Amino acid sequence: MLPRVLLTPIARETLLAAVRQAAPREAIGLLGGVGDAAADHAGTAALRVTSFLAVANTSTAADTFVVPAATFAAAAATLRARGEILLGFAHSHPAGSAMPSLQDRRELWRDCLHLIVAGDGAGPADWCAFRLTSRGVEPLPLEVA
Ligand SMILES: [Zn+2]
Repeated sequence: MLPRVLLTPIARETLLAAVRQAAPREAIGLLGGVGDAAADHAGTAALRVTSFLAVANTSTAADTFVVPAATFAAAAATLRARGEILLGFAHSHPAGSAMPSLQDRRELWRDCLHLIVAGDGAGPADWCAFRLTSRGVEPLPLEVA
């Protein structure tokens, strides 16, 4: 059974603030919390996202993101220092849908949680949680608290 994803209010607000700040460019950051995104779960086990840590998007294009390895490593270390696990990543599609783009399907890391927020963070947000595996995109049930 696919893991259910719970986005806590503090993680949601931090993420939406980063989306607003980055618009019209894409926001990107790390999702910290509890759980194992690669595992299948029986019953109601969940990935609990307790924080979002924004990182700088160094891409010059409007519809993509690039995160330098050193930036990622520093953010991952911050999560570890807080006692959180790196569950995956969130990014925004300011002018698109919440569905993973072709580039997302090609380039995003496998077997971790991905969260996409559609919109600029100012209005109602559309969300998509998924993981990429050898089987392709697996949408995960998402609960936004
Ligand atoms: Zn994308």
